[in-house]
Amino acid sequence: MDASSEGNFEASWKHRHHLRSVLFSETLQYVQKYVPWYSRSYANLPSEINIGELDKIPLLKKETVISHYEEFINHSLQTAAVQHTSGTTQNSFILQRSPEELKYVYQFFSEVSNVHRDSDKSNTSFIVTLGRNTHGDPILRPYKNKHLTIDLSNAAWRPHLKNILGSNQSLFAYLGNECNLIGPAHQILFLTTILIDDGFDFSTSLVKSISCSGEYLTETKYAWLENTWGVKIRSDFSICEVSGYAAKCTYCSNYHYEPIVLPDVIDIETGQSINHGIGFLTLTSLYPFTQKMPLIKYLTGDLVKVSRGTCEVDSLGFTPMGRVPQSIIQTINNSLIIIPSADVLEVLDEFPDVAHVTTGHQYQELSSRYDVGYPLARLVFDKNSNEINLFIRLRYSPNFFWRQSAILQRLIEARMVEKCEGLQRLTRERLGKFSVQLLPPPKNPDEAAQWSYRISQP
Ligand SMILES: [Zn+2]
Repeated sequence: MDASSEGNFEASWKHRHHLRSVLFSETLQYVQKYVPWYSRSYANLPSEINIGELDKIPLLKKETVISHYEEFINHSLQTAAVQHTSGTTQNSFILQRSPEELKYVYQFFSEVSNVHRDSDKSNTSFIVTLGRNTHGDPILRPYKNKHLTIDLSNAAWRPHLKNILGSNQSLFAYLGNECNLIGPAHQILFLTTILIDDGFDFSTSLVKSISCSGEYLTETKYAWLENTWGVKIRSDFSICEVSGYAAKCTYCSNYHYEPIVLPDVIDIETGQSINHGIGFLTLTSLYPFTQKMPLIKYLTGDLVKVSRGTCEVDSLGFTPMGRVPQSIIQTINNSLIIIPSADVLEVLDEFPDVAHVTTGHQYQELSSRYDVGYPLARLVFDKNSNEINLFIRLRYSPNFFWRQSAILQRLIEARMVEKCEGLQRLTRERLGKFSVQLLPPPKNPDEAAQWSYRISQP
């Protein structure tokens, strides 16, 4: 699970860069020797490609991995763990991990956390992780402290949550007096909601840090979590296909990947590496931390804003802008218009009138565990008229509260244009029209689930 907060070392970018450079050339040699796909398709590549020459390497798409699955497997190794990528059956694959690579990951982070063991404030802090790994076998990272896993889908935990996380603990005093809470963002949001509903006094909370992973957290939700818990929220970015996390940097607010992964951002139109602006994220899993099924220059399907060479921690930083399928990326009259799904989510989260996926008080009642708090909306581009429409389901019928709705529609339109450079360009260059369409609430949970505008990671 996510214990990257444990490996929170602050090696400067030079160290990360050096480690990645060495691992990258080893990775290229390794995959050409052991993985059929790379032996075949890298045959005509130059013998030496360094870390700054990623443009020389072909882009790897998810569809290619799916259609040539067996060729991406290193058959000389056993399989110790599997991870499932999300998507429909035709659009997902099983990632296999070998015992050797899992050992390297564990050892690496053990050593990294030992370096900083001296700086431990106390040995009375404990870690609570939420949930099981829903994507397959958990990839173990070392934990320095006492560790408890809470499964929110098991209702038996609920009466104990206040006692575990609050200073009035009796049965749980043995755990310690400071808690680091770690879990997928949707579970952290769900836990926070039920604690509020159960009358938990957050001023008695033992939680001193919270690490969220897995989903895009809007600024509104981020602020809500920070205000509710009174602690800084740490947010991690990761995808199933590539082992490793990117953490939000305390210095530059961008995300930096752990050195066991090589990230890059490419131009949407040319596919070449870029130093700034919005592009597609690619990731390379590095040897020896990935051996059974290495993915090189893998297109993750994430839209990110890149910033290179601006932070001491790492040479590449990025801000997630959401998933590509929920975004609009269109060339209109030779102008590239990008409406990142993150902009839509950020704006919709500011308006309580927007309907959201229903969240019950039982975790199992959720239509999907990933849907907690997602707005019901659809972003549609009409290529005949060059119109972009944002359809939004409200909590009430816009026709009944027509005056309220008319104001709301104009407010959301204005906020969207203010937030999104692509929409500013669309209107400034008169390339097309943008409008918000308000619709009544969904008739039932199934319809709601179909409208869920979620941009979580696969
Ligand atoms: Zn930084």
